[in-house]
Amino acid sequence: MKDETCIFCKIANGEIPSKSIYEDEEFRVILDLGPATKGHALILPKNHYADLFELPEEIAEKVMVLAKKLGSRMVDKLHADGLNLVQNNGETAGQTVFHFHMHLIPRYKDDNQKIGWVPGKPGEEELEETQKQIIYE
Ligand code: AMP
Ligand code: ZN
Repeated sequence: MKDETCIFCKIANGEIPSKSIYEDEEFRVILDLGPATKGHALILPKNHYADLFELPEEIAEKVMVLAKKLGSRMVDKLHADGLNLVQNNGETAGQTVFHFHMHLIPRYKDDNQKIGWVPGKPGEEELEETQKQIIYE
């Protein structure tokens, strides 16, 4: 399941060189070329899934296990103070490469990066309305 036109398919499968920090049968993890901080890495499945919604559950589970293992190691080896996991789906959400990837972003005191949002101030009714829309029972 590769997409001939997808750069992350080519990188994940070794057809385009990258700064790889981990590889197994299903994944490659590479350093981001435009890092938010030192060590910013991307977990790439070798198969092509455009986003989280296309990702099979067993791959999704493995992504989180890898994020835990590699994230801990990065924090340790790079003497980072924290770690953000970021995963964008859809252009509106900031996705620019349409091959699923999970960002591992080590954080350092005074790194001057901002990964966040402006908090809203919903009233009780609005929260209840939203809850009704998305509750999963
Ligand atoms: P996103 O905005 O979540 O789709 O993230 C795409 C990320 O891929 C950005 O952080 C880019 O810097 C990174 N990126 C794009 N092309 C490459 C590449 N050839 N090698 C490594 N990282 C890349
Ligand atoms: Zn791809």
